[in-house]
Amino acid sequence: MAATIPLQILDSIKQPASLADRNYNYTFVNQAFCDHYQKAQEEIIGSPMENLIGKESFQNQVKPHIDICLKGEEVSYQYSHLISGNRDSVNQIHLYPCYTDDGAIDGVISISEVQTEQQTIQKLKGSEQEFRMQNVEWLSQRALDFLELPSVEKIYQYIGKNLTGLVPHSLIIINDINEQKETVTPRYMFGINNNTFRKVINTLGMNPIGKEYPFAEELKDCYKKQRLVEFQGGLDEFSFGHMNKTLVSQVEKLLSLKAIYTIGLRRENRLFSAIHLLKFHTSEIQYFNMVETFLNQASIALQRKMLENELRKAKEKAEENERLKTAFLANLSHEIRTPLNIILGYVQLLNTPNLVPEDKTQYINAIHESSDHLTDIIDDVLSMAKLETGQQSLQISPFNLNALILEIYLSFQSKARRKNIRFESVTPLPDDKSTIQSDENKIRQILANLLNNAFKFTPEEGEISFGYSVTNNHINFFVKDNGIGISEEHHNMIFERFTQVEDSNQRKYEGTGLGLPISKGLVELLGGTIQVESKSDQGSTFSFAITLKR
Ligand code: ADP
Repeated sequence: MAATIPLQILDSIKQPASLADRNYNYTFVNQAFCDHYQKAQEEIIGSPMENLIGKESFQNQVKPHIDICLKGEEVSYQYSHLISGNRDSVNQIHLYPCYTDDGAIDGVISISEVQTEQQTIQKLKGSEQEFRMQNVEWLSQRALDFLELPSVEKIYQYIGKNLTGLVPHSLIIINDINEQKETVTPRYMFGINNNTFRKVINTLGMNPIGKEYPFAEELKDCYKKQRLVEFQGGLDEFSFGHMNKTLVSQVEKLLSLKAIYTIGLRRENRLFSAIHLLKFHTSEIQYFNMVETFLNQASIALQRKMLENELRKAKEKAEENERLKTAFLANLSHEIRTPLNIILGYVQLLNTPNLVPEDKTQYINAIHESSDHLTDIIDDVLSMAKLETGQQSLQISPFNLNALILEIYLSFQSKARRKNIRFESVTPLPDDKSTIQSDENKIRQILANLLNNAFKFTPEEGEISFGYSVTNNHINFFVKDNGIGISEEHHNMIFERFTQVEDSNQRKYEGTGLGLPISKGLVELLGGTIQVESKSDQGSTFSFAITLKR
C-alpha cells in the first residue's frame, strides 16, 4: 500500500495512528495506538476493526465516517469509548484517504487526539462559552442578513446556502404548501451537486421540482409546532405512496440516506412552506438547536417579506383606483356635458320666432333623448354607489319572463331599425309557462346594459340577439352581437369599475365605463356569475345564469 503518509512517520508520531483497508481490517498500527488499547501490534494488524472496538461502536460511531473518507473526503469526528481498565476516553479522530500510485483510494489513515474524560470536560467547559458566543454571533448576523434580502425567492436561496454549510451531507428541499388546495410543490433543492441530482432524476425518471403533489394529512401533526422533527420512516413512507417504491428505494441507496428531518413554516395559522433535510451518511444533525433557531428566523423573515409584498400590492391597487377615479370623473363630466349642451342648444332654438311645428317637434324629441341619456348616466352612478355601499337589495316576486323579454325587445327596436341591425329575441319557454320568481327590475337593468353595449359596439347591418335558455333548473341569459369584439387580454378588466378598452384620450364610443361593473354586481346579487366570450372583430356574447324558481 502506497500511503500518502509514509508508515515510518505514522510509526514515529505520538498520537495513536492506524491504517485500515477498504474491508475495515487494520493493516498497520503504531506504538501509541497499541499502548492506548493495551494490545500488541501482532494482535491488531490483520484483524477487523470491530474486533478491537466492538461491533456496535464500529457500526454506529466509526464506519459511517470511514465510508465518507473512502469516497475521498477528509473527516474529523469525536469518538468516545471505554477501553480496558475502565478508562473513559474521548478522541478527536482525523481520517485521511489513502491513495495508491494510480490515484485509487485503498484505505483510510486514522490519527487520534486522545483525551481522558476529565481533560475533555475541562476543555469543553472553556470552549463551551466561546462556542455559545460564536453561535449567537452567527445567528444575529443571519438575522441582519435576512433584513437586507429583497425578495422571498432570495430568502429561500439564502436559507438553502446556509443550511448546506450548517448541516453537511444533507439534501435540503424547500416546498411551497397550498393548504387550501392541499398540495405540496418542491421549489428548490440544495446540498447535492448537479451530477448526483442528474442521477436522482434519472433514477426517478422525472424531475420532482415544480410538480404538484397531494399534501399528506399525516404530516399535519408534524407541522403543528414550528419545530424541526425527525420523520419516523424512510423516503418511501415520506412520499406517502405518491412515488414508485422501487425507484424511491434506489434513490435512498444512491444518496446513502440515513434520516429525514422536516419543519413546517406557518403564517396566520396557515402552512405556507415545508423544509426537508435529508441526511446522508450519518443520521444526526450536529448543531440541531442552531439549525432550528435559524429556521425560525427564516420563517419570520419570509412572513415579513410576504406581508411587505401584500402591503405594496394593496398600496399600488389603491393608487390605481385613485387614478381610475380621477379619469372616471373627467370622463363623467364630459359625458354629462354632451347631452346638457344639446339640451341647452335646442332650448335656445325653441325660442326662435315663427318656428314651424315640425321643427319644434324635432327639437323637443332631441331634448327628450338627451334628457333620457342624462337620466341613464345618473342612474348608473347611483346604481354603482348603491352596489358599492351594499344598499342594493333584491325584490323577489313572480313575473312573466317572456313578457319582460318582449318589453325589452320593443324598447330597443327603434335603435335596431336606425342602425339597420338584425335584431331578435329568444324565448324557449311557452308564454304560459314562463312565470318565474326573481327580481324583474334587476334582470331588466342587466339585459338593458348589455344590449346598450351590443348596439354601441356593433356596426350598421350587424346582428344582435338576446334572450335565455333553460338547463338543469337554471335560466341562462345571453346577449350576443357580431360587432367589434373584445380581445382576450381585456376580458377581466372590462368588469372592473371605470375601465374601458379604449384609451380615454382617443375615444370613439361614449360611455362611463360603469355598465359592465354594475351588471356584474347585479348578477352576483342574483346569485350568478357573468361571463364574456369574445375575440377582436368576431363579436361578443355576454351571459349569466340564475337558478330557476317558479
Ligand atoms: P361603457 O360601455 O360605458 O364604456 P361598460 O362597462 O359597459 O362601459 O363597458 C366597458 C368596455 O367594455 C367598453 O368600453 C367596451 O370597450 C367593452 N365592451 C362592452 N361590451 C362590449 C361589446 N358588446 N362589444 C365590444 N366591446 C364591448
